[in-house]
Amino acid sequence: MRVYVVHYSEIALKGKNRRYFEERLVENLRRKIRKIEDCRIRREYGRIVVESENPAISEVLRKTPGVKYSALAEVAELDVESICERALKIAPDAGTFKVDTRRSNKDFPLTSIEINRIVGERILKAKKLRVDLHNPDKIIYVEISSKHAYVYSERIEGIGGLPVGVSGRVVSLISGGIDSPVASFLAMKRGAEVVLVHFFNSTIHSQSVRKKIHDLAEKLSEVHRVRLYMVPFRDVQMEIIRCIPSDYRMVVYRRSMMRMASLIAEREGAKAIVTGDSLGQVASQTLQNLRTIYAASNYPVLTPLIGLDKDEIVEIARRIGTYDISTLPYEDCCSLLVSKHPITSAKLDEVERMEENCQLREKEAVESAEVIEFG
Ligand code: ATP
Ligand code: MG
Repeated sequence: MRVYVVHYSEIALKGKNRRYFEERLVENLRRKIRKIEDCRIRREYGRIVVESENPAISEVLRKTPGVKYSALAEVAELDVESICERALKIAPDAGTFKVDTRRSNKDFPLTSIEINRIVGERILKAKKLRVDLHNPDKIIYVEISSKHAYVYSERIEGIGGLPVGVSGRVVSLISGGIDSPVASFLAMKRGAEVVLVHFFNSTIHSQSVRKKIHDLAEKLSEVHRVRLYMVPFRDVQMEIIRCIPSDYRMVVYRRSMMRMASLIAEREGAKAIVTGDSLGQVASQTLQNLRTIYAASNYPVLTPLIGLDKDEIVEIARRIGTYDISTLPYEDCCSLLVSKHPITSAKLDEVERMEENCQLREKEAVESAEVIEFG
């Protein structure tokens, strides 16, 4: 019999948070795995065991925040003979190897080093292999747990981070670009539950934009389920065009988005707003403009991409599968009637004064948003 053995990162496990962290991770895994198979998932001595060998489950383990690594392991009895048998079954036929034992069950009569030696010798006797402790071709991992031992040699790397939910909830502004889906992903990776918000202008936006945003939400929901708000931006945008000079419009569009995102944050019990801003990348992202934009909200604004270069962002986007969706052509609502030379240092008081002339029906826009669940 084989099972998936799941390990989480241990740094976060100190103190009282441990139990909460573990329960959250089990719950998150359970919800995703249930869609594949109805199998038992249990906690056991600092690991999680999924009682299935369904290959589709490895994809879930690869994409769930909080999982450091996992493995499809042979299950052995708690005796060294049974462990040797399983180790022989998975040992390669040529090359070098070593045995690496972790004994979390301290009642087991042999120490880790003794188990390494006994299992290693049995493999050497049966197969034409060499031991190399420093740079082996294969490592045979043995884990001694409470009722069973687990034996495997292939680790499935996870994304690390924290289980989604342990950090609370955020509202994440998602455009159709490359950056914001990556920012949303990074917030999820650090344990935040994400509510996505997209602003669209129905007159310039075709069905394809809608589909694009849905596809991005769907992709992100492979990490953890997400809720998406599709907020109609047309009326607000038309009013901004009426009352704000073109070189200031981009900043005001974005301030308006921050205000509407704050209304949604309030409704959703979110504690922060996430954007895909990367310092200095485009005109709206000078420090002065960001100061003026973020001042429109009382919530802290988190920008997970602030320290990343574009190529680093692209690399993550490819890895999480959003890149190919993001690079499909789309009309960005924000590019509508903005100046070719937008202001790069919009002063807050100046912009606030301009906005006094506007009748922005932001509350109405949020209230008429379509809310869609993914995952
Ligand atoms: P992205 O690649 O995410 O579009 P960007 O570098 O192109 O980012 P902008 O287009 O100026 O920069 O947008 C900055 C951020 O503002 C985005 O990352 C996103 O968080 C938010 N944003 C912009 N447009 C929208 C929109 N239509 N709906 C929701 N959020 C948006
Ligand atoms: Mg963009």
